Amino acid sequence: MENFNSLGLHPSILASLEAMNFQVPTPIQQQTIPPALQGLDVLGSAQTGTGKTAAYAIPVISYLINSPKSSALILTPTRELAAQVHDAIRQMLGAQSPIKSALLIGGESLGFQFRQLKQRPQLLVGTPGRIFDHIQRRTLTLSNTGFLVLDETDRMLDMGFAIQLEQIAEHLPEIRQTLMFSATMAPGVSKVAENYLKDPVRISIGSTTNPVDKIKQETVHTSEADKYTVLLQQLETFKGSCVIFVKTKFGADKLATRLHKDNFAVEAIHGGLRQNKRDRVIYDFRNMKHRILVATDLAARGLDIPHIECVINFDLPQCPEDYIHRIGRTGRAGAEGRAINLLTSQDQFKWRCICRLMKPEEKYQAPRGMMGGGRSSQPYQHQRRPQQATGRRFMGFGRSN
Ligand code: ADP
Ligand code: MG
Repeated sequence: MENFNSLGLHPSILASLEAMNFQVPTPIQQQTIPPALQGLDVLGSAQTGTGKTAAYAIPVISYLINSPKSSALILTPTRELAAQVHDAIRQMLGAQSPIKSALLIGGESLGFQFRQLKQRPQLLVGTPGRIFDHIQRRTLTLSNTGFLVLDETDRMLDMGFAIQLEQIAEHLPEIRQTLMFSATMAPGVSKVAENYLKDPVRISIGSTTNPVDKIKQETVHTSEADKYTVLLQQLETFKGSCVIFVKTKFGADKLATRLHKDNFAVEAIHGGLRQNKRDRVIYDFRNMKHRILVATDLAARGLDIPHIECVINFDLPQCPEDYIHRIGRTGRAGAEGRAINLLTSQDQFKWRCICRLMKPEEKYQAPRGMMGGGRSSQPYQHQRRPQQATGRRFMGFGRSN
């Protein structure tokens, strides 16, 4: 397939794709769109930044055009990702489209969402908590929702949305089409896929345990005491924008404040901020108002901000898969990207888990200068997987978004 024309898409979709300068479908789009247009369920995985959104959005839009009395529901783990997906689909629908949509996410005015829902939108995009809230309030019925998309499914489960997903699914028609996507397929996802998908077409493009090749990964060994100084040195090595990932909300605020005092244009994002502040931070960062975004894993999944040149792991993530997602915020749509990992001797265990995820066949060798200490004495096999969580978490560590 050379371009989108051979797919039999509605002329309005083709016009929007042209306006967006989408000329050639990416591999996940090439393989997902035809079976999805036939009405089949799809379980798809493809690396970060390879166009999974349009892979499901194009079939969703086709469905909505062909079935004007039906609606589609797209669920994502975070509010920011839901907003981004909603924007992307509105763009693909084009300004003239009669199809109404609603963004249903937590932290935003219920009144505004009630008014949107009264207009009977055909397309609903949101986070599981708020969607279920509307169902309970009877402000939303899903009896005409014949199309369901779960984006970043493993993360939704990992965030504890499994029960809400089940409750939402109970309100959906039995006969429906379901598509499920992620860049990584953490343990447990295929089990969940069995509950939601019927005879799915399985599409797996590239590795689910490796970032795209275009992301250059570097490690810098340091100590807790020197970490900030090393960070400053690394920030000198490039000019573009970057996301610095830290472990906790408190840590995010603290690091952003410190960088701000050192005259960097920086903002922090984490789950402890009010939604309007979160929206503003992402909006400003997208528009390059500040160079640095200090973030918790809240920003690890799905966010597509093409100008991010570098991802810095100031703290390593709480589960190995999150590493792939975090560094996948750079190197999007075929661009070059850079990831810098600041490692202390305390990180040896976590770093080894990440290396094993990416290169299970290779014998792990600690980076130079990173010997001893930490949790290195604990064998990887002895990890306990917390109940309900699907992501492999490092034993004994909690997540704080
Ligand atoms: P993923 O969900 O796989 O991480 P996204 O769907 O967010 O990736 O897409 C990553 C970037 O690639 C976005 O900026 C999107 O606009 C762009 N993109 C997607 N498909 C195409 C295409 N066929 N041609 C050009 N750019 C594309
Ligand atoms: Mg995505």
